[in-house]
Amino acid sequence: MALNKSMHPRNRYKDKPPDFAYLASKYPDFQQHVHTSLTGRPVVNFKEPEAVRALTCTLLKEDFGLTIQIPLERLIPTVPLRLNYIHWVEDLIDGQKQPRRGIDIGTGASCIYPLLGATMNGWFFLATEVDDICFDYAKKNVEQNNLSDLVKVVKVPQKTLLMDALKEETEIVYDFCMCNPPFFANQLEAKGVNSRNSRRPPPSSVNTGGVTEIMAEGGELEFVKRIIHDSLKLKKRLRWYSCMLGKKCSLAPLKEELRKQGVPKVTHTEFYQGRTMRWALAWSFYDDVTVPSPPSKKRKLEKAQKPLSFSIPEAGLKELQAKASAAGCTGCSSVDSVTALLEKTLAELRVLHKRVPCRKQEQSLFLTAVENTWIHGRQKRREHKRQLRELPRAPQCAGSSSQPSLATAGTPTPSQSQPTLTADSNSQDDNTENQNMSAHESGKEEKKNASGELGQISENVAGGDVDMESSSCAETGQETELKETPTEAPCRQPQSPGGVELFLFKCLLNVMMEESDVVIEMHWVEGQNKDLMNQLRTYLRNTLLKSVAKP
Ligand code: SAH
Repeated sequence: MALNKSMHPRNRYKDKPPDFAYLASKYPDFQQHVHTSLTGRPVVNFKEPEAVRALTCTLLKEDFGLTIQIPLERLIPTVPLRLNYIHWVEDLIDGQKQPRRGIDIGTGASCIYPLLGATMNGWFFLATEVDDICFDYAKKNVEQNNLSDLVKVVKVPQKTLLMDALKEETEIVYDFCMCNPPFFANQLEAKGVNSRNSRRPPPSSVNTGGVTEIMAEGGELEFVKRIIHDSLKLKKRLRWYSCMLGKKCSLAPLKEELRKQGVPKVTHTEFYQGRTMRWALAWSFYDDVTVPSPPSKKRKLEKAQKPLSFSIPEAGLKELQAKASAAGCTGCSSVDSVTALLEKTLAELRVLHKRVPCRKQEQSLFLTAVENTWIHGRQKRREHKRQLRELPRAPQCAGSSSQPSLATAGTPTPSQSQPTLTADSNSQDDNTENQNMSAHESGKEEKKNASGELGQISENVAGGDVDMESSSCAETGQETELKETPTEAPCRQPQSPGGVELFLFKCLLNVMMEESDVVIEMHWVEGQNKDLMNQLRTYLRNTLLKSVAKP
């Protein structure tokens, strides 16, 4: 995965990593740490603290006009990762440019968060530090950048986090606090133990983990728990409390702690920089704060919004055009021909469809499916048999067992067709699952979707074709088994797609050229279950491709 792509969208390094060659030519101090790789690229050795420091100081100078000094024996921050956190705080407090007031717990020698926040956004900062050396450097770094009006560095005792820093100010409400807690990772890494590796499970007992590892474990968790406990006393004195985490496994127990304490607003995020990944947690006692979605939810949403698609390669288009012209679509473009053939198949399937306005050289159809006429007859019979077995008391409305419940129907809606139990009545293969659920099972289906099945579908689509197994239609996994002719009579036959009250799903189908291929995209609009749209996609694709194979 290109991790830079996962940086915060506003991170200036997201699509534009630092240009080492340019920086080396401009900054002699940096130049001495830039080497040429075997492939001739300028590289920096991130295992050398001197090189990391030189890069950090150079980037802060070049991109933010900041001049800082940092001792090698203290944590050397990396700028792109720190920026990710700043941008996330902007998201939390919903304001990049307004004057805001924040606290940086453990600001470090660099004082990087306050320097960046003050320079980029004009934020005021109270920066705390326990370590004498860090405190001295931090103060100097603020002064030499003329930021003393915005950033106040205070020395605090080790045992305290927020309480002491705030005890003199009883009135001011801070917009946020941020913290990069001490993970003790550097000591561990020096011993070859990567305690920040998220794939490494936490030690299950004192005996199985090394002493230092347990210390690191306790270090991060305990530190943040202490911030949580301070926050429970300070509550609305800060609008957002936040903390960076070095280990993914810290996230769950801390969230659990917040849940136990009844903290009303909690969210988290992930930060990427190169191969480094970090997590951050934020919580608030305010009801009116904007809570940014965690990345997993965002990803699911993005996936759910992705269309299902398939393409007809250039090689097959001539034959499709010939087929379309035989059906009356003469002088048509490839897009028009494919659209005409799709319309023919949709008509056969009794899927309601009408053309809607779209971009030039594209065609767009609005589809409303009121019944499932595209799945394999054998599957239907098998499913019907299964339901007869499992739901002996289910009302035996004609065809009800082979129809998924309709989207707007609050109660089971029988259709009027009755599949017959013939050819496959002895089949042992009964794994069609929820494909042809009866209305009785629709509740189960909703749960299934809620637990992320939509994401699964889109993931498959992203990787190429969707197989029928993934869409709970696991009879054989062979899409070619889908029949070309509709198998059932409609339960209702409404006249126009727009005016349908009961439907399985609605979608928008776009036909367009992509290079020399024709691409068909299906965008979900609404309905009961995206699996159904996936099945229809497979049916339409197979029908078109079959006609290419057998003109
Ligand atoms: N914020 C900096 C430094 C993070 S390292 C950065 O992101 O680069 C953590 C810092 O927290 C260290 O400098 C350590 O001295 C400081 N620290 C540890 N305990 C603290 C406490 N109780 N209060 C304030 N700072 C503390």
